[in-house]
Amino acid sequence: MSGDKLFGIIDLDKRFEITKFKLVRKLFKSRWFPLILMIVNLGMFVLILLAGIVGGYSAGNYNFGIMFVWILWWVMLMLVLVPGMSRAWCLMCPFPIFGDWFQRRRLYEVRQGKLEGLNLKWPKRLKNMWVMNIFFLVTTFFSGFFTVKPLITFVLLGGIIAIATVMGTLFPKRTFCLYVCPVSGFQGLYSQFAAAEIRRKDEKICARHRPKTCFVGNEKGYGCPWLLTPFDFKKNTYCGMCLECFKSCPYDNMGFFLRPPGVDLLVDTKREPKGLDEAYKAFIMLGISILFYLAFQGPWGFIKDMVRGATLSGWLGFIAIHTVFSLAVMPGIFLGFSFLSKVFSGNKEIPLKKVFVNFAYTLVPMGLGVWIAFSVGIILPNGSYLIHVISDPLGWGWNLFGTANIPWTPVLTGAIGYIQGVVLLIIYAFSLDYGYKISKRTFPDEKQAKRGWVPIFIFLTIVVLGFLFLFLR
Ligand code: SF4
Ligand code: SF4
Repeated sequence: MSGDKLFGIIDLDKRFEITKFKLVRKLFKSRWFPLILMIVNLGMFVLILLAGIVGGYSAGNYNFGIMFVWILWWVMLMLVLVPGMSRAWCLMCPFPIFGDWFQRRRLYEVRQGKLEGLNLKWPKRLKNMWVMNIFFLVTTFFSGFFTVKPLITFVLLGGIIAIATVMGTLFPKRTFCLYVCPVSGFQGLYSQFAAAEIRRKDEKICARHRPKTCFVGNEKGYGCPWLLTPFDFKKNTYCGMCLECFKSCPYDNMGFFLRPPGVDLLVDTKREPKGLDEAYKAFIMLGISILFYLAFQGPWGFIKDMVRGATLSGWLGFIAIHTVFSLAVMPGIFLGFSFLSKVFSGNKEIPLKKVFVNFAYTLVPMGLGVWIAFSVGIILPNGSYLIHVISDPLGWGWNLFGTANIPWTPVLTGAIGYIQGVVLLIIYAFSLDYGYKISKRTFPDEKQAKRGWVPIFIFLTIVVLGFLFLFLR
């Protein structure tokens, strides 16, 4: 990667270490952190679950659970956490806390020796994103109910916590987070575009250090719960930012860095290869974003009715169209453009699958950009609901902070389409820049790379024009 520059000006090897500040390092090395955030978050989710079963049925729009999960949490994830901080949500996520406790039988201290549980082996053929891909896709079948039926949000979140806990008793460490959690896959994929990373600092120190305590653990911290080798991993996707390696490294050789966004899109090593599972995650996320936009922010009421299950046949039709579009139509169209790319390049040796998979990573910035734009379209019109529900979380007529009667106040609604358009154009620039770099890594010589890049460039441009049309219509 050395020598590459983003937009020809920003050195992709440039890093700024946040943990060089003593206070931050002290915080990262404390066993209270991020445990305290998980506990606070657990309290929030208990309230959300309670609101799902006992609160606000009659006025879905004013339900605490719905507002906090689908307006604050989702928007924070897509708008701030993933693009800015990689998987910072996983650092504070309360879903696996009961599984962690079961395995360790403690929350604060480090347990020495073997962890509790059956420690079954996760099947090798499922050590990828496919389970998460399908789980997430199936979850979106119910997306039309999440925002109007608090109980559905309860079932979803309660179900995730239950599965995480049961899996914690059966499989080692964070197997659930790595291979099953529906929130994990898109965070992992889009964190490749994040402007932050956790990595080891000095390669030579790691090479000399035996045993590698960041992997096997010591009295200060657990060996990587995400089953990574902290001393040499190269992309954010499977690092849950749990900070254990900061605690277990006796040389303070792990760092939290700010970096140019998107660096991981160029990673393709034997241990962390580009893969069809991640490529499909990119298609599914882009497909879902198109559907969500059409259903929740577009002018077509009949699509909303289908997604919200106004009739059973409409809902089943939506599931069928949605699934076929995300799993077959979009990848199929992209396969066509990848084929053209191979033909244009003139390179006969390179497998079509490699061209297809490699270029699918150009959809990572693009997909994230669309989700950021979608989030802007959620928070500006609906953000004021949050101020309302905080005073009356269970919809029981409370007014805890004196804000329960604040009326719904949409913000900048006339400008939303333009803001979304600008976001998309900025992200499009990133997609193009990384796309060409990927082309140079896919085809062995520069002329082939230039020619092979043309069809993908056209594909990305069509997608952007399509979204601009929707945003600005
Ligand atoms: S992978 Fe899922 S359950 Fe695990 S920490 Fe992240 S969001 Fe939470
Ligand atoms: S490398 Fe492993 S131990 Fe370190 S922060 Fe990431 S997930 Fe945690």
